[in-house]
Amino acid sequence: MIRDPLIEGATQLFINGEPRDGSGGKRIPQINPATEEVFAEVAAAALKDVEAAVEGAQRAFAQTWRDLSPRKRTDILFNIARLIRENTEPLAQLESRNIGKPITDARDEVQLGARVFEYYAGAVTKLFGQTIPVARGGFDFTLRQPMGVVAAIVPWNFPFPIACWKVAPALAAGNTVVLKPASQSPLTAIMLGQFAHEAGLPAGALQVLPGAGGEIGDALVAHPLVRKVSFTGSTAVGSRIMGIAAGDLKRISLELGGKSPNIVFADADVEQAATTSPMSVFANTGQDCCARSRVFVERRIFNAFVEKFVAATQQLRVGDPLQEATQIGPLVSAGQRRVAEDFIVEARKAGRTVAAGGGRPLDKGFYLEPTVLLEVDPGDRVWREEVFGPVVCIRPFDNEAQMLREVNDSRYGLSGSIWTNDLKRALRVSRQVESGVLSINSHSSVHVEAPFGGFKQSGLGRDLGMSAMEGYTELKNVYVAE
Ligand code: NAP
Repeated sequence: MIRDPLIEGATQLFINGEPRDGSGGKRIPQINPATEEVFAEVAAAALKDVEAAVEGAQRAFAQTWRDLSPRKRTDILFNIARLIRENTEPLAQLESRNIGKPITDARDEVQLGARVFEYYAGAVTKLFGQTIPVARGGFDFTLRQPMGVVAAIVPWNFPFPIACWKVAPALAAGNTVVLKPASQSPLTAIMLGQFAHEAGLPAGALQVLPGAGGEIGDALVAHPLVRKVSFTGSTAVGSRIMGIAAGDLKRISLELGGKSPNIVFADADVEQAATTSPMSVFANTGQDCCARSRVFVERRIFNAFVEKFVAATQQLRVGDPLQEATQIGPLVSAGQRRVAEDFIVEARKAGRTVAAGGGRPLDKGFYLEPTVLLEVDPGDRVWREEVFGPVVCIRPFDNEAQMLREVNDSRYGLSGSIWTNDLKRALRVSRQVESGVLSINSHSSVHVEAPFGGFKQSGLGRDLGMSAMEGYTELKNVYVAE
């Protein structure tokens, strides 16, 4: 069944299998960043709704989901994946209107969400314990048990896939989930709640709670029935969550900011590196925690690389996200564009070279041209801080050791790329870069089957793969005397 979600009321909280308004009566306007117009309003949860959502999730955990057979859990998760696939187009259109994401990217992300559910549907029966030959004899084995209610708090930059990659492994492991989407992008999360219910998930096992993080976040994180908080967002909010969760030693996983390096050696395929690198930072209009926003290029090829990089950047098609050909849409909000523009203004004031972009390409919509900065100093704010907009800095390097010191001189450590045709160098450098995810001669960061997460202030714990599923369990050891 294909539907228009805005008509079918995907603009309310989804609690205990039913849509409902927030008890405080507040609504959150949804602005299309390409037109600057409000196109929907979504109910906002109040503190009373947090209570209802968590208690309902706890009931669903204790009364049904925890003890459902693995076979039934698998079937339901596959059903969710099927409904996502059948509704690719409405989900993608909605995401595109909600946050300005190019429609082709939005479709890919919906498919990614479906694949995540398929992967964890299969994983339900592959979460193994161990048998351990303990010294005193007898029989010793481990169990991976669900924790209870998981609070999943997600950002607006990849709203649908990130919601899926928290909800699916948590459910697969036998937990129930309260999902809090970002205020700027709640619509596809609410649809996910509806699909899950339609797919046979017991009422309450997935609650969707749109609402202002600043108002309901602390109550959700501090709630004594919440056993784990899985958060993706800014380092500042992640750190606050860690502080609150410490109160009752809640389990947490945090996927936070990044300032990822893109390292290009002279022996690399320069053409390929230079022409693919712009989208490694400008895709999603730079609002990507894995954006390769610090480019390190070996000096011998620096000029040739920059020339090709700038040419490829200038060819990127910026425009209406609902057009099939568009590669770069607007930023999510006027505020987000202002933040990115402030970095550019500061760089200009410091005399840095703006080799491409820097301006607003269209009168309407929160657009900003992909911007390339040269001659930046390693002390510059734009070199050190996450912009979360379409701004890249490119610097030359002369030797590997000095370059690696600069790469690792960052509080972040999420992702990155290394371009070289020397295998030994690729392996040596990949061991030394301080980051949770790396790719060699490629810019891919996310694989459903592999762990994803950061070193240092980029996070704690891992999403995706079996590591994520283990992270939604407690490990129990059972000893049986002979
Ligand atoms: P954010 O401001 O930290 O918000 C993320 C989520 O946290 C939103 O749902 C937000 O709700 C909620 N929130 C805000 N204050 C809260 C509080 N006090 N307690 C609990 N929840 C609270 O981040 P953002 O601006 O949406 O996202 C951008 C950041 O996410 C960037 O730093 C980016 O690097 C990071 N990110 C990291 C990854 C990764 O995997 N490492 C992936 C994507 C994004 P409201 O929207 O209602 O404020």
